[in-house]
Amino acid sequence: MLKINCKPNRPEKSVQYLKKKTLDSKKLLIAADLIRKVRLFFGCPQFVLRNRKKGAAMSKKENKNSRRNFLKTVGAIGAGSMLTSVAPFASASDQNNSTNTNPITVPTRPFGKTGIHVSTLSLGGVLSESDQLVFRQAFKMGITYWDTANSYGWGNNEKAIGKYFARFPNDRKKIFLVTKGATSDPEKLSEKLNESLERMNTSYVDMYFIHYVADVKDELTQEVKAWAEKAKTKGKIRLFGFSAHKNMENSLLEAAKLGWIDGIMMSYNYRLMVKDEMKKAVDACAKAGIGLTAMKTQAAFSANFYATIGSETDDALKITESFLKKGYTAEQAKLKVVWENSNIASICSAMPNMTILQANIAAALNKTSLSSRDKQLLDQYARQTSSGYCAGCANICEPAVNCKVPISDLMRYSMYHNSYGDRDTAMALFNKLPADKKASILTTDYSKAEECCPQKIEIGNVLKNTYEAFT
Ligand code: SF4
Repeated sequence: MLKINCKPNRPEKSVQYLKKKTLDSKKLLIAADLIRKVRLFFGCPQFVLRNRKKGAAMSKKENKNSRRNFLKTVGAIGAGSMLTSVAPFASASDQNNSTNTNPITVPTRPFGKTGIHVSTLSLGGVLSESDQLVFRQAFKMGITYWDTANSYGWGNNEKAIGKYFARFPNDRKKIFLVTKGATSDPEKLSEKLNESLERMNTSYVDMYFIHYVADVKDELTQEVKAWAEKAKTKGKIRLFGFSAHKNMENSLLEAAKLGWIDGIMMSYNYRLMVKDEMKKAVDACAKAGIGLTAMKTQAAFSANFYATIGSETDDALKITESFLKKGYTAEQAKLKVVWENSNIASICSAMPNMTILQANIAAALNKTSLSSRDKQLLDQYARQTSSGYCAGCANICEPAVNCKVPISDLMRYSMYHNSYGDRDTAMALFNKLPADKKASILTTDYSKAEECCPQKIEIGNVLKNTYEAFT
């Protein structure tokens, strides 16, 4: 039985998962070396491996199962890392130290043609006020691009950042701070921005995004442009842009023509970056000088049938094993492949605990390039599992059902629920849907949408399960 004694910062899920797994063969000794490296990222003072069947003869089947279990375990950790970073965790005493003397930090890249350099790894996701050590460690390791939104954690993420700046006011000017508001109404934009500034204990943000833009022509109006210019003049924002979770390619192409968009954060990962439309869209933005931040780089599944890499298929296990032999987890490889595009200034990643933070930092510091074989493996995995991943091309499937059901949004809520384990956010977003849209979910015929879906998703089934999960 694998036993873990540790008190890392909230890796409960990984620990619970590990506790369920057994490693009961001679392979344990080999596994122990890999586990030891994983341990570094749990920051576990004690990490005890016990083989209760020690000495017992292992059958071939047991050995095979053991190897499979091990790969499943490491694959499921995902958050863990085979790469190691070089700095120790921030400690409680670091919280009283306002200087950062760490010489080895996450690299930076120019953010479009704005003249600003940002860290290639951006602190995203939802942190709470009790997560101050995560902010501290991120800062200490050079993660100076922090991303939030007015809505994250119902404002609590911004309050957590505000608490950090109250404690370390000198760090504010070293942080590239981004927040977002989901509206194109100038009056509401002002309200949301002011609320965000107050929560974060700051008089300005470095970049302000309109959140969830799906149609640039409709949402980035001349009124919005005037609002952004005024906010810049007042010194409340330095740069302006938007985030895009669906129809990303069209939005990027349209934004490149506008001439007043400084930055965009969009879904971008090993599944999407190989598509011709996405390549063209990213190139157009790069030429227009727009800074780009990739999000959703792990390309999580919409539904729970492919919940974790390494847990379902032999091919997935082979991919996990292949990366582990080279010293990466599959999750780290997914980050590295995105960084290979120099037009992507930064990856915004949810890093809710020290484990994930340290694993991502290790990937950012590592200078080894992925081989063409590594990329082939990712590509092969993307093709094999495409029917579990929604690519956000709402302009393809939603017209097929007369736009009665926001298919792409529902797929995203399902992903938050099934892959991120964030039922609260998923439910809150689902509950905001207009009643007529919700009512249409179960009565709509999705056959035409399924026919045209490039990912070949069983849309009807996924949405039925999503509806049942949230009602
Ligand atoms: S369900 Fe299919 S067509 Fe619709 S947004 Fe997702 S991937 Fe695109």
